[in-house]
Amino acid sequence: MSDLKETLYEELKLKLGLIVDGVRHEKGIFDRVLDGNNALRRKVSSYFEGGLAPYAFVLPHGFHVGLDYRQDSPYEIVEKNGVFSVTYLGKWQADISFPTPPLFYSKTTSDGVRMKNIGNDSSSGSPDRSLVISYSTECALTEKGKVCLFCGIERNSKLLGEDKCPALKNPRLIAETVKAAYDEGFKHITLTGGFVPERRELEYYLDVGEALRAELGVADFYGTACIGAPADLSVIDKYKETGFRTISFNTEVWGKQYFEIVNPGKVEMCGGYDNFIKAIEHAVDVFGKGRVRSNFVVGLQPKNVLFEGLEYLTSIGVVTVASSFHPCIGSHLEGHRSPSVDWHWDVQLRHAELLSKAGRTYEEIFYATPGRNFSHEIFQIENGDHPAFRQAGEKLAV
Ligand code: SF4
Repeated sequence: MSDLKETLYEELKLKLGLIVDGVRHEKGIFDRVLDGNNALRRKVSSYFEGGLAPYAFVLPHGFHVGLDYRQDSPYEIVEKNGVFSVTYLGKWQADISFPTPPLFYSKTTSDGVRMKNIGNDSSSGSPDRSLVISYSTECALTEKGKVCLFCGIERNSKLLGEDKCPALKNPRLIAETVKAAYDEGFKHITLTGGFVPERRELEYYLDVGEALRAELGVADFYGTACIGAPADLSVIDKYKETGFRTISFNTEVWGKQYFEIVNPGKVEMCGGYDNFIKAIEHAVDVFGKGRVRSNFVVGLQPKNVLFEGLEYLTSIGVVTVASSFHPCIGSHLEGHRSPSVDWHWDVQLRHAELLSKAGRTYEEIFYATPGRNFSHEIFQIENGDHPAFRQAGEKLAV
């Protein structure tokens, strides 16, 4: 293994640790960085005992890490003479910097709504840029008392204050935000959000698709509709007709019993586990291999059960996503612990291998997933296409 490749893997594993264990910092440490840089501030800043914080920080080789404050984390961000670093149990790991927010974060829609509150940059610093539109800051499962066990939407929704958005964001304002992002080089959007009473979100996706086609002047677009399985599977065909090139159903865990425990609301809203899996299979028939995604919250079940699901879904052409479980404040699993970083690292490496074995490409993963994840990084490191290789080449050439 080349030195740079080895360094990239070491740093990627550090990123994984920072996701799984979170990071702490002294209150006020970021005040000077954030002063006058509103776009860098994370939305739910009052969420953190650490006070105001940037939405992410950057490791030396460009890996962006979403800042997840955890009081009991072994990782800490410290500052000395204006240089910020990450430590582990007090031992220096790496100096860090902060991302440059996209231009659209500083823009407003024609109705004066801040675009930052409509779309989130999910590119993690990659030149392949993507954004996520969460159409709502609420989920109908909250009132039913059936939120997914790992989800912190209830508490987030209470804390958003002025950043709280209406039950459904206006499709026209979403289209304006996406246009602004595409104008600065973004190439893919994911539309996602919680359930809406009477499953009104199913029709709403079609409205957003129409608005996007009109605003972008295209017949279809690189966009992923991320939805709960509909009882009537023909809805899936309509999403394709509306212009979405990819679609997603997040299983979160594999196996009926796990699904029913972790996703009680999805059981009720989506016709149960069997219908959920049928929806994924039908979507592959309609959209094609490499154009259907399913997320797993990795760390909620034994590895052998998890891989049974990952193996089945990748074998039929699904782009699976292995999101490492980290307990959200305000979720039913607040205070729980995720498996060790080594456990998660093994999952990430084996999962990338599965996607590769199933014939998936980096491009398919990019266009089917909401944001850059470990599979993107591992694919690009293995292919030699990682931006860090290019940067190193450029530096050598100077
Ligand atoms: S469906 Fe589950 S994960 Fe999605 S917003 Fe609702 S509670 Fe959260």
